[in-house]
Amino acid sequence: MSKKDPTPLKKEKKAREPKDPNLRCKAYKFRLYPTKKQVGKLEWMLRRCKELYNAALQERRDAYKMCGVSVSYRIQADQLPAIKQLREEYQDIHSQVLQDVLKRLDKAFAAFFRRMMNGETPGYPRWKNGDRYHSITYPQGGFEILHGNRLHLSKIGHIKIKLHREMKGKVKTCTIKREGEQWYAVLTCEYLHDAAMTFHSSEQEVGVDLGVKVFAMLSTGEAIENPRHLRLEERKIASAHRTIHRRKKGSHRRHRAKKALSRLYRKVRNRRRDFQHKTSRRLVEQYQIMVFEDLQIKNLTATPKPKQDEETGAYLSNGAAAKAGLSKSILDAGWGGFVQLCASKAEEAGGTVVKVAPHFTTQVCSGCGIVVPKDLSVRWHSCLGCGAELDRDHNAALNILHRYQQSKQIGAGSVPQVPVSLCGEELIL
Ligand SMILES: [Zn+2]
Repeated sequence: MSKKDPTPLKKEKKAREPKDPNLRCKAYKFRLYPTKKQVGKLEWMLRRCKELYNAALQERRDAYKMCGVSVSYRIQADQLPAIKQLREEYQDIHSQVLQDVLKRLDKAFAAFFRRMMNGETPGYPRWKNGDRYHSITYPQGGFEILHGNRLHLSKIGHIKIKLHREMKGKVKTCTIKREGEQWYAVLTCEYLHDAAMTFHSSEQEVGVDLGVKVFAMLSTGEAIENPRHLRLEERKIASAHRTIHRRKKGSHRRHRAKKALSRLYRKVRNRRRDFQHKTSRRLVEQYQIMVFEDLQIKNLTATPKPKQDEETGAYLSNGAAAKAGLSKSILDAGWGGFVQLCASKAEEAGGTVVKVAPHFTTQVCSGCGIVVPKDLSVRWHSCLGCGAELDRDHNAALNILHRYQQSKQIGAGSVPQVPVSLCGEELIL
């Protein structure tokens, strides 16, 4: 893991060039227990990295504003040795960690330009102020696990780590992350997935409708209740926010209130993740094929346009209030993350996650196929055509499953979901 000589790294990179399609990436998160002194050192590093990030952002912006030149990652990375000469404290940070800071900025710009090209209106990459910089990454080396309970970090030392589970494959990168007062190491591992070695004992297929009233409704009619952690904790969170605003900036009391808030958020996050892991595990074990809607979650969470009465000009209900609640529930339930969890667990267990087109799954009758229009408030599906009487979400789950079964017969329309690698930026930031 730790490599002092940079040359073999380049060779390794070249050898990996035609990426094996079976190569998978998995991230493991472990709690760190740094000493007070190490916390000081880590926070110092975060501040230096933030400073570098902001300076690099400034350089890119100024170069463009003044001379219309765009500065690339390469140009900025080549300046690092000079920066280290000028600011000696940067010699106390592993060089690849610094390169990674510049890479993150590069990614932020790439995402910004990509969204511009797509005709969206993205925000310009932001300055990282105050405590908005939470993690550093060792992208290749400079870290090592020793004796099963220590993480050695270059320029920092040995930090106590709790390896609560075994890792599969070869450790590639290490990200040190601050979450409130707690510290974590996120280790990403690469391994080869061998489809021939996985076998699912059941042949059952299930359609899953991710909902608002219940977290998920299965085509079997089983409802998985929504834990709604955030809703329950919402009041506490709102009151914690108010406490912060009441207290004087820079005061100890305000600082304490901030800590309390981040504890609350962490609790909600952990409980949600726990619920999703357990639920996805259970589904994956029971069903070989899980069918979901291919939802563009973003479209669902956007605010609806105002609606006016054509004659009187009065504003009518546009469903914004309902949607505010709905959007909240969607974010609360974290559907996208859940489908991803199912996909990656399914692959290891020899199962598959499939996505089908989402159109009209709630409106069509699962019994006879005619359209029964209903808005969000109608929770029951009753069909005049075939007399079907069932829960709205159950009807949708059946439609989702049927859609997959039909596309299987004609051989098109549905897309098996390959788990997205967790090595991307979403993990780090
Ligand atoms: Zn019907």
